[in-house]
Amino acid sequence: MPKILFVASEAHPLIKTGGLADIAGSLPPALAAQRADVRLLLPAYRDALKHAGTLKPIAQFAVPGLAQSVQIFEGKLSNSSVTLWLLDFPPAYDRPGNPYVDAHGRPWPDNAPRFALLARAAVMLALGQTSLRWKPDVVHCHDWQTGLVPALLAQAENRPASVFTIHNLAYQGLFSYQTFVALGLPAALWSFEALEFYGQMSFIKGGLVFADRLTTVSPTYAREIQTPEFGCGLDGLLRYRADRLSGILNGIDDEVWNPAQDAYLTKCYSARRLFNKLANKQALQQELGLTSNPQTLLLGVVGRLVQQKGIDLILDALADIMQRPIQLAILGSGETVYETALRKLAAQHPGKLAVRIGYDERLAHRIEAGVDGFLMPSRFEPCGLNQLYSLRYGTIPIVRGVGGLADTVIDATEKNLKANKATGIVFHEASAAALVAAIDRAQSLHRNPRLWKQIMLTGMRQDFTWGSRALDYLKLYRSAQRHLRDKPKGV
Ligand code: ADP
Repeated sequence: MPKILFVASEAHPLIKTGGLADIAGSLPPALAAQRADVRLLLPAYRDALKHAGTLKPIAQFAVPGLAQSVQIFEGKLSNSSVTLWLLDFPPAYDRPGNPYVDAHGRPWPDNAPRFALLARAAVMLALGQTSLRWKPDVVHCHDWQTGLVPALLAQAENRPASVFTIHNLAYQGLFSYQTFVALGLPAALWSFEALEFYGQMSFIKGGLVFADRLTTVSPTYAREIQTPEFGCGLDGLLRYRADRLSGILNGIDDEVWNPAQDAYLTKCYSARRLFNKLANKQALQQELGLTSNPQTLLLGVVGRLVQQKGIDLILDALADIMQRPIQLAILGSGETVYETALRKLAAQHPGKLAVRIGYDERLAHRIEAGVDGFLMPSRFEPCGLNQLYSLRYGTIPIVRGVGGLADTVIDATEKNLKANKATGIVFHEASAAALVAAIDRAQSLHRNPRLWKQIMLTGMRQDFTWGSRALDYLKLYRSAQRHLRDKPKGV
């Protein structure tokens, strides 16, 4: 079984801003369950240290360019046998809150050196250049924060294979040429065939250009990012590397997202005890100040309030939605314009629209369980996790047919309903009108309790746990190792 160093910038339950944390917190245990030896490397942010449990220092080493040395603290990723390594360097990571932005939502000004340090330390660990004996066969990196890992590894002899997973191509880690120079990176990396991207340094290109294997988090997104519409300027490069690129759908952590044992719920339930879901709806209506009514169609939204998630479409559609006998519960944080607009609208629609701004794990679970339908009108969606949680929770996803949403939700067409395959509602055009039309379809299905229940149960039967997908990653690791072995030197 391969030894894998998993490098990420967030992982649940240590620190989380989005889906990447869910994956970095659940895929390593799924790999370990297949007997792979996985170590998860993460920066020792203040919150991560707080939530990591027992830790012990196991290594201290100097990283080029730093006056002080860094430390590795070792622990276990909670509820698993996965070894957790936290990279401790207080000037870079000991600060409150979000790993990427300050309290005003502005990127930390030293993000480039912070994540270059993560990459450098990862590479030293991967090459056995520290006092630690363990050397991985594969380094699996995620998103732009770890993009320099494959780039730096590629410069080394006798290196492990590298795999780079794109969770969101829109975030690229772009910095100035001066920053590139200040980081002291090999001069050869300043080339359009390496990190340079229209006059800037792109961290993500380090992964896209140099990794032995590229993956993204759904087959559809893997195809989409090779087109100008979804490629964020990198579609040409991705077409060039298409033979290395594949899509593996994200899995969900069945321990964390399982209505039969979810401690956040008012009442746990399952497909066999579906009637208990209603208690969660009633509790949610009460908690959020929505009018208590078990019959009213209650829709939910949980996510980052950014254009990607189609929050502007929801805002445009809101007046229409509010004219219908529908309630809407929204939990999210993100761009101030959207936060302000939503707060204002909530005040105008008491009892019908509830808005909670902020990050609230507990409420996210209670919304998934308490609502009837879940809105995801994303402009693009690499995989999307909330529709998977919705399916698991007997909540019907209403989604735009892009990326992972297209791969995981089966539209309630007449044919699919007849074949007992439908799991949600899929619409295509990125417009408020198309969203409202999809909600109207949901409403008419909701008026037919038999059909609605059929869709709920079909969704709940889907298996989105890691199982076979962890095996897909193991296969991929082997192919990355083979590729590296068979590669002529210097290519
Ligand atoms: P992305 O990674 O693009 O933000 P995903 O759907 O892949 O979107 O994952 C989002 C994850 O973050 C889900 O687990 C979702 O429940 C969670 N999440 C997003 N916003 C919030 C919030 N405000 N409060 C609680 N959980 C949130």
